[in-house]
Amino acid sequence: MRYAHVVVDIPTRALEGAFDYAIPAELEGEVEVGCTVLVTFSRRPQVGYVVAVMDHPVAGVSPDKIRPIQQVLAPSSFDLGAARVASWMAREYACPPCEALRPFLAPGQLVKVRREDDDAPWQLVCERSGPVDVRWVRLAEAEEPFEPRKNASRQRAVLSALAAGPVRMAELAATIPGASQAVAALEAKGAVCVEMRRRVRGGDETSLSSAVAKRPDHLTEGQKQALEAIDAACTAARGDVVLVDGVTGSGKTEVYLAAIERVRAQGKGALVLVPEISLTAQTVGRFRSRFGDDVAVLHSRLSAGERYDQWDLVRQGLAHVVVGARSALFAPLYNVGLIIIDEEHEGSYKQGSAPRYHARELAARLARERGCALVLGSATPSLESLARCRAKTWGGVRWTRVSMPERPGTAVLPTVSVVDMTQQFAGGNRSIFSRELTSALEEVIERREKAVLLLNRRGFATFLMCRECGCVPECPHCSTSLTYHERTHELACHTCGRTWPTTAWPDPSAVCPNCGSRYMGAFGVGTQRVEDELAMIVGDRAEVIRMDTDTTSGKGGHQRLLERFDAAECAVLVGTQMIAKGLDFPEVTLVGVVNADTTLKLPDFRAGERTYSLLEQVAGRAGRGERPGKVIVQTYWAAHPAIQAVARHDRSLFLSPELDERMEADYPPYARLANVVASGRDPRTVSLALDDLAADLRRKLQGARGWEVLGPADCLKARAKDRVRRHVMVKAPVDANMGELLGRATRELGPRPGVSIAVDVDCYDLM
Ligand code: ADP
Ligand code: ZN
Ligand code: ZN
Repeated sequence: MRYAHVVVDIPTRALEGAFDYAIPAELEGEVEVGCTVLVTFSRRPQVGYVVAVMDHPVAGVSPDKIRPIQQVLAPSSFDLGAARVASWMAREYACPPCEALRPFLAPGQLVKVRREDDDAPWQLVCERSGPVDVRWVRLAEAEEPFEPRKNASRQRAVLSALAAGPVRMAELAATIPGASQAVAALEAKGAVCVEMRRRVRGGDETSLSSAVAKRPDHLTEGQKQALEAIDAACTAARGDVVLVDGVTGSGKTEVYLAAIERVRAQGKGALVLVPEISLTAQTVGRFRSRFGDDVAVLHSRLSAGERYDQWDLVRQGLAHVVVGARSALFAPLYNVGLIIIDEEHEGSYKQGSAPRYHARELAARLARERGCALVLGSATPSLESLARCRAKTWGGVRWTRVSMPERPGTAVLPTVSVVDMTQQFAGGNRSIFSRELTSALEEVIERREKAVLLLNRRGFATFLMCRECGCVPECPHCSTSLTYHERTHELACHTCGRTWPTTAWPDPSAVCPNCGSRYMGAFGVGTQRVEDELAMIVGDRAEVIRMDTDTTSGKGGHQRLLERFDAAECAVLVGTQMIAKGLDFPEVTLVGVVNADTTLKLPDFRAGERTYSLLEQVAGRAGRGERPGKVIVQTYWAAHPAIQAVARHDRSLFLSPELDERMEADYPPYARLANVVASGRDPRTVSLALDDLAADLRRKLQGARGWEVLGPADCLKARAKDRVRRHVMVKAPVDANMGELLGRATRELGPRPGVSIAVDVDCYDLM
């Protein structure tokens, strides 16, 4: 008899580990690590995941006390190495073990046990995606062509449709009425054959000219050095990390491609992570142009079926290069030679719901588990990664930084000028566009080139504000300022999605909810206004393409806009953060940042870092071809180090004051920071639960060196969806095991009815 360690799918912190079950003889060949199984737990049926298979039960348990596994519900979706990483994730991020395993399941798998009410029998709900087979019809191979009867016009139509080659049954049915009966009749006579073929869904296609990665004649010095460091890390085979610190356009993608070629030659695969918003067909195309069908693509814009097919290609060993968003780390690729995280500084690598992992940390752990190398790439590396490279070793592995300060060939970094908007205003210019930006746009149009205009997202939204009392309407259910939508005359809450019809000044019915004044006016830089003012400058001399969440919703929306921009002769692309990343259009010679400083004012210790990397990234979109680029940054805060650093291409101008501040205040990278948020409908029970938790944490820590418990306090977003939100922040030394302590404290707090507690270790969202 063999035994299995099973993690039961009950998402509670009270259940810490796995439980032993016997593998009955009839399931002997079927139960393996990674399977979803049906077991009995606490006298009721439960779904579980096999994380280990053993010859003996755990010591001390008599074999006849161990219950059998009842059924295998889904085949294996992860291996032992992945199971170990999941177990680390549960400890590190203080989440229930089953929540750490769920991301490793096949996309679209939904298997659970439930019952209608307390007396009803338990029912198994099983939904799994599977491969889709499609019916194809082709002509049978025969000596002589089949001749249908005179009046069999449908059969004739089918046969003539097939004359040019096989056709999908669905297509025949859509074009020829009664096609399925005709095909059945023809099949019975041996005239046609019906075959099932596997269809693979997903995998982006594009016509973008920049979506192929031409192999360069020579690698740059920086690229060679990066590849050498990566080779050394691969040879060390213990999870060493190489940080490729290369300016925008320095050819980091070529480094990734060359490194992947080398590991593929050794028969190994690679995981490539790209931020969700830059995971465009352009990016995917570069990998496909080098590795063809060996590439699988995984991201959240794919349908469940598409995700399943791409995932299944990897599991079947048909694709060895996985390009995806952070969740690509869970792909069933077991023989991994290399993990790459492009734009590693991106905040979106942190998962916002349980398991709240950071892709960089998870990848580092996975690289150690698989004995492969981890490559991090960025023009603006995170302060965390830079600190580890300075320390040289971290978590038992080497961290090496390689710098690539130059662009290949003749391309040079763009010139950056900062425009102080307070002076524009004082000088009588009331437009959103400074004189500098206006004339630069004029030049671009005259030379028939392309420009990109960035609107910093937080300032992008328009609000209604009373000019008399300063009131900004807030959502009554969430503490979020409502944004104003000019086209639909609506106020909308971006937390809960509710909308209200409204009017704004100069409409005579506009009224302030606070003081009754009529002067409720739109405030902030809205798309509409930018578009209108841009139209006055550009006229019909250039195409204006707007890219934001409104215009890119829907499948392929983003893609179509980029293809339009690519195809245009002379165009201006206006957009939010999503345009800052990864775009590589050589004809872009001007980048304008309309409002650089809105993100600087956010109450978050990373505000400066985020603004700096956003500006540096967007500036990097200019001058990637032969013609030099120009960047104009409009700001009300010209002296800020983040802006000065971008203006002078000198990271240290930002880094040294920033690091001093972080050290002073005990923030990352000098400390770890966790955010524990309690939420619920009743303010009293929420407060009580969090007070108890904070008191317990303080008791457990007893003033331990380098630890600090802050709060409880209301979150900045103190309400969301009618629930109040309070939080406790915990600071700890960089090498401290925070997850362990926070997991223990929340377990011991026990369940509090009506209160949910979210533990966010190494948090990025402080609101
Ligand atoms: P990054 O990812 O660092 O911003 P990319 O990888 O997009 O930069 O490269 C910028 C451009 O330089 C691309 O068009 C790429 O084809 C080209 N390139 C990369 N390496 C070389 C090289 N060694 N020689 C010539 N061109 C190169
Ligand atoms: Zn008012
Ligand atoms: Zn709301």
